[in-house]
Amino acid sequence: MLKLENITHKYQEKSAVNDISLEVQSGEILAIVGESGSGKTTLLNIVSGNITPESGTLSVDNEVIDIYFNRLIRDLPNIKLVPQDYRLKPDYSIYENIDLALTQYTHEYRRERVNELLVLCGIAEIKNKKPREVSGGEKQRTAIARSIAEEPLVLLLDEPFSNLDSINRTHLRSKIVEIIRQEEIACILVTHDLLDAFLVADRIAIMKKGEILMVDTPLNIFQETESQYIKEFVSSAIQPIRDFMKGFGKDMNFDV
Ligand code: ADP
Ligand code: MG
Repeated sequence: MLKLENITHKYQEKSAVNDISLEVQSGEILAIVGESGSGKTTLLNIVSGNITPESGTLSVDNEVIDIYFNRLIRDLPNIKLVPQDYRLKPDYSIYENIDLALTQYTHEYRRERVNELLVLCGIAEIKNKKPREVSGGEKQRTAIARSIAEEPLVLLLDEPFSNLDSINRTHLRSKIVEIIRQEEIACILVTHDLLDAFLVADRIAIMKKGEILMVDTPLNIFQETESQYIKEFVSSAIQPIRDFMKGFGKDMNFDV
């Protein structure tokens, strides 16, 4: 279980993350949804150890993690971030990109674990290809496979759907759910797209200007009546569904 308490960060004098507290259970997907500039990437960088916050605490399975220590190696062992641009090694195959995460293990274990990850992430058939020869969705799944190779307790995904077409998006959404459930990882998934969050998350946190406005189930977010901001956000997310259904001659009416 991942727990953030009162995390705050400023760039120069400008607040980017303001007093955020959240909990994510093992095997749970929490989507953080907010407009561009709301502080989502900053928050993930704090949780992954890439940015030292001004204040706040982070704990995993009730153990406080030192995020203030000036480490030479920034990576926190039990927490893995998949950055928006994947950062795969272009000259290595898909197999080798995953294998590189396991260099300190025996050859036998590496082979076994990489093969298991290739199957889990649905990329076994492309294991000998280079990143440039595969789709965006396959690259994203390779980056996820690499990140979970050492069985982290926490996985952080920054805009995993942003460069994908709709078929790849749909496939990746179901793969993410499968991976998180099977590996029992606590997952924070950041997106600017509420529709993706509705389709993949157990709970959704709405973020605005560095603050969390509401954390609840997709259904409760969908039915929110008090916050005008959230109501408008929900309405803009379902507009594409409306447009889609109109294309089939069915006009759907949502009371939002
Ligand atoms: P998001 O991922 O939601 O788009 P970010 O976390 O990237 O948001 O940014 C939050 C705010 O912090 C924005 O106003 C952004 O301009 C600012 N910001 C992000 N990174 C830096 C930085 N390295 N230096 C100064 N300001 C930054
Ligand atoms: Mg971002």
